[in-house]
Amino acid sequence: MDSCYFDYNATAPLRPEAREAWLAAADELWLNPSSPYRAASRVHVHLEAARAQFAALFEVVPERVVFNSGATEGNNAVFAYWAATLPADARIGVSPTEHPSVVEAAKRSFGERVDWLALDACGAVDVAALKRQLSGGAYAAVSVMAANNETGVLNAWPEIAKACRAAGCRYHCDASQWVGKLPLQGLGDCDFVTGSAHKFGGPRGVGFSILPEINAGVTSLAGGAQESGHRAGTEDVAGILAMVAALAAAEVGAPEGRDAFIAELASALPMVEVVGLESARLWNTALLVMPEFASVRWIRALEKRGFLVSAGSACSTGKQGPSPVLAAMGLEADAMRRVLRVSSGWATSAADWLALAAAIVESHAALRSEADGSTSTVISI
Ligand code: PMP
Repeated sequence: MDSCYFDYNATAPLRPEAREAWLAAADELWLNPSSPYRAASRVHVHLEAARAQFAALFEVVPERVVFNSGATEGNNAVFAYWAATLPADARIGVSPTEHPSVVEAAKRSFGERVDWLALDACGAVDVAALKRQLSGGAYAAVSVMAANNETGVLNAWPEIAKACRAAGCRYHCDASQWVGKLPLQGLGDCDFVTGSAHKFGGPRGVGFSILPEINAGVTSLAGGAQESGHRAGTEDVAGILAMVAALAAAEVGAPEGRDAFIAELASALPMVEVVGLESARLWNTALLVMPEFASVRWIRALEKRGFLVSAGSACSTGKQGPSPVLAAMGLEADAMRRVLRVSSGWATSAADWLALAAAIVESHAALRSEADGSTSTVISI
């Protein structure tokens, strides 16, 4: 790719390890794993070995792992299951900063019985308030994501998982943006975990759910008996093997780069604000409120200079109005029109981050001189 890519939270390029695993499986393991001949059982063996390896990374038993098409499918299945199994008057608590595949699935299944959880000033769920509600028996189930896709802000999911367990409340954690970036330990303590391979260098259209150990009746697609009846459809064995290879190769931790970028911007363009700066955040994400010009103008100016960045969630592109996540965090309408999300990943270097900072400074100068040339007032569309 010629451009310098800074939109990993939308999707990541395929890791070389995933590509290699995919090509080998597509060539050699293309038989249907459910076919009756021995040659097909070899494919089945590889599929189950991949499940065991994946489960070991999460420190859960393989029976809890279901492979599917991604987090959207996994998230929808959780709410459909809760709607089918919880009492008709049960209420659920959901963070208002969740991805649309959680928010819309929750609304569809529970309507007015969804309570939107309180947030702190950085957009993380207010754990003390949630604990009070849980101890009062307010919720039969709770859904709080591990890390936010727009801001990178982390939720205290280990504490939430523990509090839910103590209260006898089911807990779902959409870990799409956490997996592949931060350690997986403890995620198995959540009843339900969902994610997508393409967020951590695996292929598009492949993902996973981790279900509770007693999980009869959790079904995202009805049909054949694949995935122990939890998800019908011929398994994408090559995609699954590539996902597992990508996750096994992912280096979790906090590579250098983002914070030096923020420091550089703070000195060159002090009017840039970083959302959630005081909160624990993903090491790869910075959500910036830019000065003067609307997001789209910054995006175009940066693309001209070879940098791909976004204005927030790719999933909200095309929807009218400002980001519901940023609205829930209390960002002013005017600031929401000027946000830029930059997010890095496995192929980004510290030098790329510094080059991005320089390109932002250059873009600012270019946008300013355009504005000065066309009109004497500040243009902000
Ligand atoms: N949850 C979160 C937090 C996400 O960031 C995304 C992808 N933007 C999804 C769910 C949905 O993933 P997919 O589009 O792969 O189904």
